[in-house]
Amino acid sequence: MSIHGKNFIGNKLSATGDKSSKIYDINSGNALDGDFYHATSYEVNTALQLANKAFIVYKQKTQNQRADFLDAIADEIMNLGDELILRTMSESNLPRPRIEGERGRTMGQIKMFATLLRDGSWVEASIDTALPNRTPLARNDLRKMLRPLGIVSVFEASNFPLAFACAGGDTASALAAGCPVIVKAHSSHSGTSELIASAIIKAVKKCDMPSGTFCMVHGSGRSVGQQIVMDERVKAVGFTGSTQGGMNLFNIANKRKTPIPVFAEMGSINPCVFLPSSLEDTKKLASMYAFSITLGVGQFCTNPGLILAIKGAKLEEFKSDLKKEIEASSPAIMLSKSIQESYEENKNKAIEQDGIILLAQATQENTSSQGRAVFTSVDAEVFIQNNKLQEEVFGPYCLLVECKDIKELNEAISCLDGQLTATVMGSNSEIVEHINLISNLENKCGRILFNSVPTGVEVCHSMQHGGPFPASTDSRFTSVGTGAIKRFVRPVCFQDCPSEILPQELKDENPLNIFRILNGENTKNSV
Ligand code: NAP
Repeated sequence: MSIHGKNFIGNKLSATGDKSSKIYDINSGNALDGDFYHATSYEVNTALQLANKAFIVYKQKTQNQRADFLDAIADEIMNLGDELILRTMSESNLPRPRIEGERGRTMGQIKMFATLLRDGSWVEASIDTALPNRTPLARNDLRKMLRPLGIVSVFEASNFPLAFACAGGDTASALAAGCPVIVKAHSSHSGTSELIASAIIKAVKKCDMPSGTFCMVHGSGRSVGQQIVMDERVKAVGFTGSTQGGMNLFNIANKRKTPIPVFAEMGSINPCVFLPSSLEDTKKLASMYAFSITLGVGQFCTNPGLILAIKGAKLEEFKSDLKKEIEASSPAIMLSKSIQESYEENKNKAIEQDGIILLAQATQENTSSQGRAVFTSVDAEVFIQNNKLQEEVFGPYCLLVECKDIKELNEAISCLDGQLTATVMGSNSEIVEHINLISNLENKCGRILFNSVPTGVEVCHSMQHGGPFPASTDSRFTSVGTGAIKRFVRPVCFQDCPSEILPQELKDENPLNIFRILNGENTKNSV
């Protein structure tokens, strides 16, 4: 096993950290290979120095060069073979098909950014050529495009050890944008992170990128992580995890001498609105939702944690059907001991709230590290008054809000916090009839789904994964799909700039098929 147990600093390895941690197989409890050394303050500073130096060179690489680099990262990840799969399975308890699928998704999103770079048009290049004879004032030559921000600090998520981690969407989009990346590894899957980091570093060398283009450090978020975010050389942060962690980093970043954007994707309970017509086949609906609630032991940011529906005989039928499904579901080991403990704590806190009825929980015996699915209900009147009922219970937990009529359902929607997703179940005609309710729901989320379940996030151009606060810190951006690159760039205008030093995309002889605005006539011409 090629686990080094040392910090990656640029393309070198160092192991001077004073504190190390072991990783244990989540199933057997046996210690896994490797000691993982927490980076010292000196090492973090070295990583920042290298990344800062790398930025000058890396931002000048052409889009094609960066695309080749991304492809090389994907290839090197694949070259890790089964060693990566086995290590990730041991550290996360996620089954082989899920890890293999997640590896495919990780490589797919890296390659998607490579394709985006080869197309080139995402930089929104526009050119207004000089009008020296314009009266009463001549116009300068003005050329604008999106340029990289600088060093990006990425915090790995625990629930997607590959796709939202070391070479996940944040890293891939930042590298695609032309930004060096410093990853703070997640302590629950340090070995997986090291394997992936080794693959990226191989690609850095193979593609002749500056060594500080990518660095990864181990250590605690509160020391190592905060040191990185506080450093003035860092220009943006990508984060997926708890509300508390995301908000801490957001506050730190905003108190810096130069505040920087923190793109934190945090908690979401993903409300699902069942219009009366959706309750026709309650068995089918219950089976569909039980599957989504318990999928991956509920450890998805798009897990359906909240159902809103109108009281009646059909809702009683649905409750009884979902109750049976939840009782029959099998408890399973969660991602880590700490996630399982937080699930127990948050679930108990939620159940203890006034007005909550415990309708069902998985009846099968569970061990201490397993998450047991739970289904509760509450009257809408109580829900509207108690904001605590909107707190995410990360795991297989779902609360049903029972409303007396459509008006109360709309009121319950109005009091919802920002969400990653919201789902509407119902017939086409009923959905059209309740357009105002749907519009109310749209205001609360980043993605609105119809007649589906919220789990499952397609990686593509049209995806929006990020919603109004507190689901994420900036609802204008997505952390999934090609749009994620926009988080790490800013527009720069070059006025009367000598052609020799213009970025390739803004030169008159532009080899990329990008669109520009010529001569201020606002006509878009394909070059
Ligand atoms: P987390 O505690 O937010 O940690 C994520 C990363 O941020 C870790 O590297 C962590 O470092 C760092 N971090 C946390 N607090 C920090 C702080 N105050 N300052 C600097 N860095 C900080 O998330 P997690 O470990 O993945 O899971 C914990 C809980 O978060 C879960 O039980 C769940 O409730 C929630 N969660 C939600 C989602 C979602 O998508 N909604 C996803 C994952 C987790 P350390 O490990 O050193 O603290």
